[in-house]
Amino acid sequence: MKQIQQALTKFWGYDDFLPLQREAMTSLNAGRDCIVVLPTGGGKSLCYQAPAVATDGMAVVVSPLISLMKDQVDALVQCGVAAMRLDSSMSPEEQKETLDSVRQGDVKLLYLSPERLLTEGMLNLLKQVSLSYFAIDEAHCVSMWGHDFRPEYRQLGRLRQLFPGVTIAAYTATATAQVREDIARQLCLNEPHMLVGSFDRPNLTYKVQPKKNIVAQVRSVLDRHKDESGIIYCIRRRDVNELCIELQSLGYKVAPYHAGMDADKRKENQDRFINEDVDTVVATIAFGMGIDKSNVRYVIHTGMPKSLENYQQESGRAGRDRLEAECHLFYSGGDYGVWKFLMGDMGEGAREIAMDKLNGMYAFCTGAGCRHGAILQYFGQAAEKDNCAACDICLGEVDSIDDALIIAQKILSCVVRLQQQFGSGYTAMVLAGSKDKRILENRHDELSTYALLAEFPKTVIQSWTEQLIGQGFLEKYGEYNQLAITKKGVAVLKGETTPRLLKPAEKKSSRVAKLKTESWDGVDGGLFDELREFRKREARERGVPPFVVFGDATLRNLAKVRPSTPKNIMTVSGIGVKKRQQYGRAVLTIIQKYCEKYHLDMDVGIETVPRQTKPAVEKVSAKDRAFELFAQQKSIREVAAAINRAESTTTQYLLDFIGTEDIDDPSLWVEPAASKKIRQTIRKLGSKQKSLIFKHLSGQVTYPDINITLACLRNGA
Ligand code: ADP
Repeated sequence: MKQIQQALTKFWGYDDFLPLQREAMTSLNAGRDCIVVLPTGGGKSLCYQAPAVATDGMAVVVSPLISLMKDQVDALVQCGVAAMRLDSSMSPEEQKETLDSVRQGDVKLLYLSPERLLTEGMLNLLKQVSLSYFAIDEAHCVSMWGHDFRPEYRQLGRLRQLFPGVTIAAYTATATAQVREDIARQLCLNEPHMLVGSFDRPNLTYKVQPKKNIVAQVRSVLDRHKDESGIIYCIRRRDVNELCIELQSLGYKVAPYHAGMDADKRKENQDRFINEDVDTVVATIAFGMGIDKSNVRYVIHTGMPKSLENYQQESGRAGRDRLEAECHLFYSGGDYGVWKFLMGDMGEGAREIAMDKLNGMYAFCTGAGCRHGAILQYFGQAAEKDNCAACDICLGEVDSIDDALIIAQKILSCVVRLQQQFGSGYTAMVLAGSKDKRILENRHDELSTYALLAEFPKTVIQSWTEQLIGQGFLEKYGEYNQLAITKKGVAVLKGETTPRLLKPAEKKSSRVAKLKTESWDGVDGGLFDELREFRKREARERGVPPFVVFGDATLRNLAKVRPSTPKNIMTVSGIGVKKRQQYGRAVLTIIQKYCEKYHLDMDVGIETVPRQTKPAVEKVSAKDRAFELFAQQKSIREVAAAINRAESTTTQYLLDFIGTEDIDDPSLWVEPAASKKIRQTIRKLGSKQKSLIFKHLSGQVTYPDINITLACLRNGA
């Protein structure tokens, strides 16, 4: 574990583990199969990435989508980790290069699709190399009970037989116990260690409101998130197109995405979003799987999803970087009708399940309890706090009305007077005293319940009606979603039970502002923007997404701490050795110029430890001095003389220096011809055992030559 901890700092720049990461890594370390269930943003990938770097052999990561593999490999390479992928989008030359590196033992993590992994050629190759473990990402794809079953994943069950001694670990964000058990069974896991984290996403603020003027409602969110990334989900393609045109005409930078679009155009829009050329995507649920952009700051649903699983998945795309993000859901009874209609074609049993889920979703929308708590409860977990302080209910943005019983009774009575033959919109019109032609023709203006709630707008009455449905006092039936009273509803009419009805509150909450200001505390916004521009330029140059260069959390931290030296930049979470080497100088220059211009303090919050002068640290000083001299490209002999140490000790310092500074070119200290011979021998022998290499080259190279070459090979991405 010590090595893993060191790798965490060196490659990722993190000082600690997130919940369950340590346990998950320990499990892998001990060679025990495991299933890790953590929500999106829970840090699953690090659970199999960090141990791979600190363990002998190569880890094989199975991932369902090319885009996911690509982003992860790009991110790992940016951190200095030897990760590669093999997929059909790569040229034959690129594929050959990967295969060669695998054969030479130069790869720590190899990303593959299940189909590619199970080809004869790949299986043969994997038999010849040393494997640390198999990590199955998005493991719910193995289960028919999950939301994204993939038949190819089923075949992964063969791995156990083909590689009996190799540990298999599975990772998913899907919460149900049924899926978990299925994963263990399908993958033939051996008494797997089950690690199930909390599904709560405390950095997400949920807000659920009835749909009124959807464009205005969407705009109010967009206006608070200028220049930030977000996703707007619509139920239908038509809605995507219409909303997009409307928002564009109002000057918002948005792009559409749905399955009906031309594949190239769709891909282009997705790339523009990932590369931050466009802030917002308006999409159907076709958009999302395979997007692991970490800094999505808001997800808006302009219609109700068909289940809470769907909602959790889609809204969960916000705030993967663990920084604050908002999830807005605008729903209407009409959405319920649309889904119900679409479910009409399903077989009897499937339809019943789907309708149950739809009702659960509707109850969530119209419910009056904590949203975080409701989601957790749905997935079988209990909320830790009564008040999450991160949803509209707990924030007090919606108040319940005092006379809920009387109002509910008026609504239910009206449903009875209408012979339970009409829907919620019509019922609300009658209660509001509408002069609508239909009402007059039906002579419903003569009912005793007509205009009984005339002091309230129709939309409010309809919202209460929907809340009564969500809480099970009314139910919808038939083609037109007519309303009928349930048993529970009868109890309300008798005054035996009181529903909770909400009204939009006058007061505005201050909590979101607090969440937001807390994570921006001390961050200089102008500097953050400059660093973000820098990130975008670098990302474009390297052909990787911006969030792979630095996450938002790292940028905010840089703009807060404003480090002044290469050493201090390493105190910022998310900057390891490789990133410091690659971007450190440029970032420090930007920060320095900015701080000079605006007279800002630098190194905020970094403790300045007085320099140690005691002779006790003499040994460390010799090493530090050696590092300085190696950085000036001095030879081992020169350094040994300067620090008055034996060449063997100095060579050891050099090996440490190569490791710390991530040097992958040995030519300063080993004759190029010698290191070439060493590399060729490794390839030929298929082994990196030093004594074998030395023997094979019988005196042509020295042990230091071999050690230095191997140290550099370990750093080669
Ligand atoms: P998941 O795969 O579970 O959705 P990720 O692996 O994408 O989660 O991680 C979510 C976020 O948390 C990323 O921004 C990642 O860099 C960050 N992260 C992961 N592990 C740590 C850690 N130990 N310390 C700090 N940040 C971490």
